[in-house]
Amino acid sequence: MIERIASTKRTREILEKYSFVFQKKFGQNFLLDLNILDYIVSSSEITNEDMVIEIGPGIGSLTQELAENAREVICIEIDKKLIPILEDTICSHYDNVTLINEDVLKVDINQLVQERNNGKPVKVVANLPYYITTPIIMGLFENNVPVESITVMVQKEVADRMQAKPSTKDYGALSLAVQYYCRPEIVTLVSPECFTPKPNVGSAVIKLTAHKEKPVQVKDEKLLFKLIKATFKQRRKTLAKSLNNQLGYDKKMIADLLTELEFGPMVRGEALNLEQFGMLTNTLYNKLNK
Ligand code: SAM
Repeated sequence: MIERIASTKRTREILEKYSFVFQKKFGQNFLLDLNILDYIVSSSEITNEDMVIEIGPGIGSLTQELAENAREVICIEIDKKLIPILEDTICSHYDNVTLINEDVLKVDINQLVQERNNGKPVKVVANLPYYITTPIIMGLFENNVPVESITVMVQKEVADRMQAKPSTKDYGALSLAVQYYCRPEIVTLVSPECFTPKPNVGSAVIKLTAHKEKPVQVKDEKLLFKLIKATFKQRRKTLAKSLNNQLGYDKKMIADLLTELEFGPMVRGEALNLEQFGMLTNTLYNKLNK
């Protein structure tokens, strides 16, 4: 391998050579820790058969490791100032890397996977820009992008929310969505010292492994997520109140629903686990489609 980009010396050389100015608005905190990089790559279990999508390659610290291990790497980077740098640090050494200079939220990743990997599942590996972590992850799920696993650096609080269990302060719509699609597992915590510039929050690497089969079978996924969103918009209210206030369902119908499910009239939505949200969805679906 060529000299590793994530060493302090090499990163400094690259930043100075290109007089690179960090853009706060793009969440640019570059990784400067070779051990953490090794952790990300080993936990993502990339093989030379994999196509990997990296979101936000920066100056290429992680890209370099991905290119060494994967069959193909597709990088999506919004900052056009980073493109000539990446052409120098990465593309001049690796022919299995494609750069796309675009906002990841505007890229049709599904189409990309169809075209470049014959629709077969890819692995997503990234040190994510924290300001758009949730839309990136939810976008992959909601657009049914064929993904085997997502191994990403995120803000520590977000990693906690992804793993959270019912009736805890971190439990919410993100926990349920992530756990519906994947099995989350925090790989390691990462201190601000491991980046340049240092972020003012703690970080964690989390691996989300896609379920082969969903843990609950629902008759209407849109209804499931509508119920979850309504619940957590008013998390301290009872489920009955949320369904009435947020979704306008009739009070008598809600009371019958809760009796049928044996949840009790005063239950709060934040106490329900994924399986119970699944039961709620299916029973409500039957009532609405009678
Ligand atoms: N991968 C590099 C590393 O580990 O050092 C950089 C990670 S840095 C936390 C986030 C990267 O995402 C930056 O390169 C930033 O320019 C890029 N980025 C920010 N917003 C983006 C967007 N909407 N679409 C694509 N890339 C984005």
